[in-house]
Formats: sequence, structure tokens, C-alpha cells
Amino acid sequence: MKHAEDLMARSMRVAPGGVHSNTRRITPQLMPKSGKGARVTTQDNKEYIDFHASFGPIILGHAYSKVTNFITEALQEQDLFGFGATEYEIRCCEKIVEHVPSAEKVLLTNSGTESTFHAIRVSRAITGRKKIIKFQGCYHGWHDYVARNMLSAKELIGKRDPGSAGMLDEAVDSTLVCRYNDLDDVEQTIKQNKDEVAAIIVEPIPHNIGCVLPQSGFLEGLRELTKQHGIVLIFDEVITGFRHGLGGYQQACGVTPDLTTLGKAIANGYPIAAVCGKAEIMDYFTTNPSGNALFAGTYNGHAVGTAAILATLDILETEPVYDHIYKLGATMRSGIQDIADRNGLPVTVKGFGSVFVPYFTRDTIENYEDLMKVDVESDLKFRRGMIEQGVLMIPLPMKRNHTMYALSQSDVDYTLEAAEKVMKAMGRE
Ligand code: PMP
Repeated sequence: MKHAEDLMARSMRVAPGGVHSNTRRITPQLMPKSGKGARVTTQDNKEYIDFHASFGPIILGHAYSKVTNFITEALQEQDLFGFGATEYEIRCCEKIVEHVPSAEKVLLTNSGTESTFHAIRVSRAITGRKKIIKFQGCYHGWHDYVARNMLSAKELIGKRDPGSAGMLDEAVDSTLVCRYNDLDDVEQTIKQNKDEVAAIIVEPIPHNIGCVLPQSGFLEGLRELTKQHGIVLIFDEVITGFRHGLGGYQQACGVTPDLTTLGKAIANGYPIAAVCGKAEIMDYFTTNPSGNALFAGTYNGHAVGTAAILATLDILETEPVYDHIYKLGATMRSGIQDIADRNGLPVTVKGFGSVFVPYFTRDTIENYEDLMKVDVESDLKFRRGMIEQGVLMIPLPMKRNHTMYALSQSDVDYTLEAAEKVMKAMGRE
């Protein structure tokens, strides 16, 4: 513990807040040292079964040999060239086009934030309109177009809630906020802003507030409304893409957006992301001579990322990854629900595929307002208790947990035994 605290103090002397992404500021005991398979080891040499999976990208396992070996080999002859396109870049795009229903053309970026920025900008370019619609609670990165109404306090739900100091008022105000799972709200907003809305951006499953599932007809309704009103529909599949299947959640739900953003699990933890979609929209980027939306980036398509995508997709295509992570995901959901019920704790476990989230409430969770019913203190107590048992469920309320390919049935058995101990103690209080 002392060593980790010393390191954090050292980090804070040279980096504001000591961490390089705000939500990593958790507890000083959690300073990472290494990771292998489904386990991470902290600076104090404590080992944890990892359900955090770095907020989701780690779909196979940490330092996954087939991926790291492929990257290492690629790096013997490739890094960054800054002209033309490498065959790795071309193959990555071909694979995304092959798998993702909405993808006719693809551009590679370095992060989900860049991808959503470009998707929105090109939507403005093609429609000539300024406004966009996002949903309360969804996160699409940190840029000014989308960083509002993320984890809003109760009194700010649906109201003006910029996520950062320093944002342009014009950007905040041209992003309209609707209720997830509420088509009437979306329809009203479109009507009140007639011919002004360029795009609707949505996490098809809002995983940034755990796992709120779309009600039947909601995503279909968004598709219908956007078609009717000439609005670009953007699915932000940075979390769901490749974690819920090779074709993303759009394949599972059967709704095809105009544009899709991808990241995280696409490369098992390496920094690469993508924006893809209909050719007629994607061709508006300047990489097409007739285009007029700027797309650029020194590190776009770097060999580390492209090799990581190719190695990861090869495993996702040829090994029973989804069977495995879905099965263990289902076991975790039903296991934690049973344990909570047995110990008299008001918990509803939700999830999809490899994702599971224990909400500390018995009420249904269908939109952002419902989250206000969650007992945040108990949620955090559970997570901290699990950490003490050697299981990493990140101590942020309602944060999703993920299963990965390297996770074993015995890891899951151990985790459920640990959950029994933690919840039993909580039930006695
Ligand atoms: N969209 C979604 C749905 C995300 O969850 C995230 C990251 N949590 C982003 C976009 C931004 O991605 P990045 O952190 O790679 O910029």
C-alpha cells in the first residue's frame, strides 16, 4: 500500500490529478503494474481477477500472446509512414466492411472521441444543418459537440449541463438532449428544431450508465424518424462494437445506422478506432477528391493499432470467443442475482452478452431518471468488498463489468464465492 501511495504522490507532482483520464482516479491502492490474461497485478503485488477490462477494450485478455506476438512481428518492418495506405490499414477496413452491416467505407482514427467528432462533422457537412441530438447519460468522448448531459445530477437531468469548463456555448447549445427510450421526446425535439438537426448520436445500449437496454421499437423508431426527417443516424458502438459480436450491436438488433463509430474491443486494448458507414456520407471526407470534410491525423492507421485489429479479429473470427464470454456473462448475471436475493439485498442485475451490472435497486432501469433510485453507497460497498477479495470491479457506481476470453470457469466460481461473502456481510448490516 505504501509503495502505491508513494507512486501516486509522485504522479500527482507531475500530472494534474495524478492520472491520465479522469475516471482513473479511484483509490491509491489501485496502481497497475502488470496484466496477463484475466488478471491484473498492482504495484503492491496484489493480484486481481479483472472484470474492469480497462473499461471494456480487453476482450481476449491482457498481454494476449497471439496479439502481442503479431504486433511485435509487424513492428520489425512497420511503424508509421505518413503517405499512402499500408496493406494492414486496407485489410482492417476490408474486415470492418465485411462484418459491420452499416460499413461500406471506413476511416481509421486513434480514439472513440475522434471517431464521434468526425461522424458529427461529416453529418453537418452532408446535411448543411447545425444541431445534433444526444441522449441523457450517453458518453461519446470529451469533445465540445458531445460532452454535455453525461452523468448529470438529478436537478440537471435533461437541462443544460456542460461536462467541462471551457466548452464553447455555441457547441453546448447546438447539442440537444433527449430521454433514452422515449421516442415521443425525440419526435418533439425534431419538430421543434425543424430542418435544423444534422444527426442523432446514440449508444445503442447506453453502457456508460451500466446497461440500459433499448425497449422494443426504440432503435427502430429512431431509424424511422431519422429517415423521415433527413437526419443522419449515428450508432456509437465504441463499447458494443466487437464486444457484442463481429457485426456490433446493430447486427444483433437488426437496425442499421448511417454511420457507426468503433473503438475499444476492436483491438484488444491498443489505441485505434474507426468511423464507418454509408459510402455516400463517408465520401464527404477529403480523402475523396470531391469531398469537403477535413479528415487528418499523424498517427491514424499506425502499425501498432492495425496489427492489433488484425490479430484480434482473427481470433474473434476463428475461436469460440463470443460463446465463452457470453456464457460466463450469463453465469455472472444469474449468480450475482441469486446471491443478492438470498441475502435479502435489493439488487437487479442487468447486462447483455459479456456485460453485467448489479444495480442496487429492485426497480426497473429503463432510462436515466431510473438511475436515481440506485443505492450508490451499497453499490460502492459491494465493489470495495470484491476488491478486498481479489476481484476487480471498479469502484465507480453503476460501472459495467466485462467477461473476457481468458477468464475461466474457476475464476467465475471464485468470484461468485467472493460475492456471497461480501453480500452476506452486507445483508447482516
Ligand atoms: N463512445 C463511447 C460509447 C465510449 O464509451 C467512449 C469511451 N468510454 C467513447 C466514445 C470515447 O472513446 P475514447 O475514450 O477512445 O476517446
